[in-house]
Amino acid sequence: MQQVGSVALVGAGPGAKDLITLRGAQRLQEADVIFYDRLVDPEILDLAPARAKRIYVGKAPGCHHWPQETISEALVAVAGRGQRVVRLKCGDPGVFARGAEEADALAAADIPYEIIPGVTAASAAAAALGGFLTERGTCDTLVLATGQTEKDAGNARWMAQLQPGTRMAIYMGVGAAGNTARALTEAGLEQQVSIDIVSRAQQRDQVIAHCRASTLLDTIETSGISNPAIMFLTRGHAPVSEQQS
Ligand code: SAH
Repeated sequence: MQQVGSVALVGAGPGAKDLITLRGAQRLQEADVIFYDRLVDPEILDLAPARAKRIYVGKAPGCHHWPQETISEALVAVAGRGQRVVRLKCGDPGVFARGAEEADALAAADIPYEIIPGVTAASAAAAALGGFLTERGTCDTLVLATGQTEKDAGNARWMAQLQPGTRMAIYMGVGAAGNTARALTEAGLEQQVSIDIVSRAQQRDQVIAHCRASTLLDTIETSGISNPAIMFLTRGHAPVSEQQS
């Protein structure tokens, strides 16, 4: 009987070759086949042996190169033939990366798989800002959100979560920035919420910008911000005088 292979769902980090984990690099060195995404630094693929087959399955926004089911089916089929497969995703495979769908397909087919974490874009962006995702006394709640669903669903869910002491890292948020700005303004949060944006964090052409809701769209337009970018909305704890009033 043919031996079953395995799949490693590996986080490649934010697109800098030296921000993948040692464990992730090791799986690449052992790989027979690699399925990789759009935002993966191509130099990371050099960690794999020349004989390893590299298959691009990237999805550009609004234009799906490989449908998700096809990717899942391919992982099952190739690992089922006894190959060691690496499914290389940008950032962390557990953050807005559809890892669960692939893991479910592998589990259903009895293919052994492991998940190897990576540096998610929010961590990379905070470090690029010279800051920290949480800050004792200022920001003790961290929310990871996606701008994609909000485009359809409106911003109501975000606003409810943006309580004092919260930082929200919005992934894929540039396209929905108009909605975000409007929702912040309508909620009367212009003064309370500061916005920091990091485009292509940890890459050579990284761009950083700071603004408020009223200047968000202008800032995106004039500062060279484009996808991929993380937008942080930070609502610190209200000063004591405001809490008492
Ligand atoms: N699994 C990834 C997220 C995939 S969704 C992770 O954990 O980081 C794709 C979104 O991630 C992009 O639209 C952008 O919002 C964010 N992103 C990925 N790489 C980035 C980078 N280098 N700088 C800023 N944002 C990035």
